[in-house]
Amino acid sequence: MRIKKHRFPGVYVFVDEDGSEKIATKNLVPGQKVYGERLIKFEGEEYRVWNPRRSKLAAAILNGLKNFPIKPGSKVLYLGVASGTTASHVSDIVGWEGKVFGVEFSPRVLRELVPIVEERRNIVPILGDATKPEGYRALVPKVDVIFEDVAQPTQAKILIDNARVYLKSGGYGMISVKSRSIDVTKEPEQVFKEVEKELSEYFEVVERLSLEPYEKDHALFVVRKP
Ligand code: SAM
Repeated sequence: MRIKKHRFPGVYVFVDEDGSEKIATKNLVPGQKVYGERLIKFEGEEYRVWNPRRSKLAAAILNGLKNFPIKPGSKVLYLGVASGTTASHVSDIVGWEGKVFGVEFSPRVLRELVPIVEERRNIVPILGDATKPEGYRALVPKVDVIFEDVAQPTQAKILIDNARVYLKSGGYGMISVKSRSIDVTKEPEQVFKEVEKELSEYFEVVERLSLEPYEKDHALFVVRKP
């Protein structure tokens, strides 16, 4: 069993006893589990195994994502933070020099994040509606990356509206698109093409990746604000 560096800074590859490889992040708060994930001790450090069936970002990395703009020190606006499964790994990656501003509109779901952020202080939980970016202006500065996972029909517009207010020029957006949330009657490929067209009116579309087999009819887009 060992841990080695992944090509993305802040991401690690965990080689298990049976030789299988998984991805992991270094635990910013040693001893803290966020969603029942496995903790691994290696050479004096603790790592959290990152489950691609629970996190679309992990699924994207395992599917060969080429562009990963979230790095140690990044400021990230996370739309649809929920109870922090993926955001906690993003928090591990950005470290104490970075910050994750996590917007969630369900008070019940956000409440589950509160005990986690008591120690994991680089996540700022924000009760807010991602369709109304002005609503959290007092709490969020300009950021390097916006990550969006809200499963809403107007996903692309939500990313563009938030990028206008919060994303630095040259900054990146990452968006997980669930075709059935946008239009159940259309073929996923058709929906993804339409989303790509809408995104390309504001951003440069850098990459599009399928999240199968981890998530059915989902794609992840990486876009750049010119
Ligand atoms: N990204 C999370 C993870 O991987 O740990 C899972 C997110 S879940 C698929 C989508 C979340 O987006 C839900 O918690 C939902 O309440 C939230 N959401 C949906 N619409 C929203 C909106 N307009 N503003 C803020 N949050 C929203």
